[in-house]
Amino acid sequence: MSDSFNVADIFGENVFNDATMQERLPKKTYKKLKEVMEQGAELDLETADVVAHEMKEWAIEKGATHFTHWFQPLTGVTAEKHDSFITAPLPTGKVLMSFSGKELIKGEPDASSFPSGGLRATFEARGYTAWDCTSPAFVRQDAAGATLCIPTAFCSYTGEALDQKTPLLRSMEAINTQSLRLLRLFGNTTSKRVTPSVGPEQEYFIVDREKYLQRKDLIFTGRTLFGAMPPKGQEMDDHYFGSIRERIAAYMKDVNKELWKLGVSAKTQHNEVAPAQHEIAPIYAESNIAVDHNQLIMETLKKVAGRHGLQCLLHEKPFAGVNGSGKHNNWSITTDDGINLLDPGKTPHENIQFLLVLTCIMKAVDTHADLLRESAADVGNDHRLGANEAPPAILSMFLGEQLQDVVTQLISTGEATRSLSGERLETGVKSLPDFMKDATDRNRTSPFAFTGNKFEFRMVGSQDSIAQPNVVLNTIVAEAFSEACDVLEQAEDFNMAVHDLIKQYATDYQRIIFNGDGYSDEWVVEAEKRGLPNIKSMVDAIPALNTEKAVALFEKFGVFTKAELDSRVEIEYETYAKEINIEAKAMIDIAGKQIIPAVIKYTTQLADSINAVKAASGADFSTQTELLVQTSDLLTEASKALTELIRITDEGAAMEEGREQAVFYRDKVKSAMDALRAPVDKLEMIVDKELWPMPSYGDLIFEV
Ligand code: ADP
Ligand code: MG
Repeated sequence: MSDSFNVADIFGENVFNDATMQERLPKKTYKKLKEVMEQGAELDLETADVVAHEMKEWAIEKGATHFTHWFQPLTGVTAEKHDSFITAPLPTGKVLMSFSGKELIKGEPDASSFPSGGLRATFEARGYTAWDCTSPAFVRQDAAGATLCIPTAFCSYTGEALDQKTPLLRSMEAINTQSLRLLRLFGNTTSKRVTPSVGPEQEYFIVDREKYLQRKDLIFTGRTLFGAMPPKGQEMDDHYFGSIRERIAAYMKDVNKELWKLGVSAKTQHNEVAPAQHEIAPIYAESNIAVDHNQLIMETLKKVAGRHGLQCLLHEKPFAGVNGSGKHNNWSITTDDGINLLDPGKTPHENIQFLLVLTCIMKAVDTHADLLRESAADVGNDHRLGANEAPPAILSMFLGEQLQDVVTQLISTGEATRSLSGERLETGVKSLPDFMKDATDRNRTSPFAFTGNKFEFRMVGSQDSIAQPNVVLNTIVAEAFSEACDVLEQAEDFNMAVHDLIKQYATDYQRIIFNGDGYSDEWVVEAEKRGLPNIKSMVDAIPALNTEKAVALFEKFGVFTKAELDSRVEIEYETYAKEINIEAKAMIDIAGKQIIPAVIKYTTQLADSINAVKAASGADFSTQTELLVQTSDLLTEASKALTELIRITDEGAAMEEGREQAVFYRDKVKSAMDALRAPVDKLEMIVDKELWPMPSYGDLIFEV
């Protein structure tokens, strides 16, 4: 791989982006396609044929032999089915490379191999992929050659969404419509479209691939199922923003290059809190593109790691006792003419439109805290949310001092007459104060924080798609806007009405605001007093998806039907049980085939040593004896726990899929897993390192 490159030259070189389209497509075709992209009309087959042809020619120049519809089924990862461009051989024995408009806009992968949560049973097994022309096609180059990837939505024969993208696009429509309604009330007649912007910060771990390959738990489940803490953890805080080691730096450089070629604007990178933990963030983009790009970032992080003899771990909690990984979903709403609805301006108290938007968001987050919490639930994230780690499982909003003060004024007097600005000057640098406030610990504990001109939703899991959180955000805010517009459009005196509404919302939903330490026990107590939900596990979060409230919300804005919601509930329970089942089975395998045999070897060595010392002299062999007793006791404990885990896992696996099974896995199987892990981790501290069958935490996270 050549080392030097010009970023501007390579950026987007593998993307069929606007510049490429302008250059390649006949004017008429380009115009038509842009119309479709901007207004969401339907693409006619004639235009599609021309686009497909040009796209194919371009892709072939990049070395592509195949194309694929690239989609995001409910497995959390992307899926693709590759077709080559070649046609049936001609009479001459030659083949042509072809790609039709029909192939571009519609595909028909076998839907039955993807989770559908009952939609498949009730409806048809067939599934369709449809081109999302607002997210550009790209050519992916890797060891397998080059493939033209077409971002698509994935639906059932009768139009039910079987993927992440379809509801996301629907939710973008909802927030567009409702935001425009709100803007019109404030006299804006020029903005034509409002889109949510998203910038996700992605955390990940990097370990050595050789070592990774010696850990079956990492291979099968993405996290360590056993492992004692190393003598040094993250207590020294010396990794956070520490200088990046050369091997990692070379890796990051390569990741950036790959991403830039794909038009992903990878921007920042740094070490994170935990040893071997890092973060990458792109510049924000329209939410459906941001979701696609986040998938590409995750794929690229994994793929490029292999080339450097490294392994990327995207799991939320690869190492118990070490800080886990998440994603910060930065979110704002912006008009096509560049107005950010979340920009408070210099004097927020005078910015009535902003105050309405802000209080609407307070209302949305408070009303649907359970849904937002659910949107961040995945199996791995249970180790973070509600466990002893950031962020807390209780949803609350952080506003920062300035906005907090404005909201307080609104609540107490009904009128905000000033915006705090004193502290701006204290640092002597006008542009710094917000950032300084931002960086305080207090703010970092908030799961939903206002950060200048956007909200940062910090609960999302590191390996999860960010689609769901954005679907929820877009829809709940659309609902709040819509309800506000319902009132304001009827008002005789708009100014009076809007003031009243802002005050009312600020008052009614103030319980969602919390500026203190979100990790403290006091907050748990306080939140309960306020009636805020504290949902500790994924299993308990899932029901939020199809409550009456959720069904009414999603159906009103055409984002999900009840059937789609029910299907997602079913899939999530199944996924939960399946993933824990895999973890349990991996533990059984590792304990039975690797750990217990190693411990037995060690006890044999100890016994031999005792006998040898005894025979040779009257020297003291009490240390060996003590170790042998200790080891044997732990071995017995581990062996019993293993037997129990086997029994309980068999019981769980035999249950019918659904909530009850998921609850069983959470309460019974997980406890049995913990019971096995405890003695094994103690044994790891005792048994000769030479005999221990896998690299330790220390080996994995300090020696990359
Ligand atoms: P932090 O202080 O959290 O590091 P940054 O300014 O680095 O914040 O931004 C983090 C992420 O938020 C980046 O992906 C950035 O592009 C994104 N971001 C910045 N402004 C916005 C916005 N208005 N809407 C959505 N995302 C944004
Ligand atoms: Mg951040």
